[in-house]
Amino acid sequence: MSVQYPSLYQMKCPFCGSDQYLPLGKKSSGLQQFSTGLAAGLAPRTATTIANQHAGNMSDAIPLQYQCAQCKKKYEFTPLPANEDEVLDQCCDIHFERAKMFKGSAGVYTVYLNGVPIGNVHNGESLTIPTMLKYDTVFVGFGNGIVFREVFKFQAVPGGRVGIVFDGKFRFAP
Ligand SMILES: [Zn+2]
Repeated sequence: MSVQYPSLYQMKCPFCGSDQYLPLGKKSSGLQQFSTGLAAGLAPRTATTIANQHAGNMSDAIPLQYQCAQCKKKYEFTPLPANEDEVLDQCCDIHFERAKMFKGSAGVYTVYLNGVPIGNVHNGESLTIPTMLKYDTVFVGFGNGIVFREVFKFQAVPGGRVGIVFDGKFRFAP
């Protein structure tokens, strides 16, 4: 059986069917367990680091809360295994850069790729994450499971490279 990659591509609001949403993060009930697991699973990182050589796997897929951008209702969603037509035949590198010293920039951030926590970045650090999915979603949060209500969606190409800068908002790297 081929590797299954977690995906948010098929996620839709269960109330109105919209595919527009904002991430809210982990439900508070599981916070302790979540932070502990994350801290144990990830080594300290230096200025430029390479994430695990996979784009997250199904065992890392955890339920997170989202808010529908249309009807504003909240729902929980666990990334689903990507369909075959979502998977690239060669990985695409996502170069994520956390911009230095912007307002509210204290602390370590956790980078989520397709709903899965994939790595940590300190102020001014960057992270290279290989993705095997065509349709990717990135958001950023804290170790306690709270996330910024910003979401960045883009299409990856096989063998390509996508540069993203986060300074409170997302943009493509110049
Ligand atoms: Zn909705």
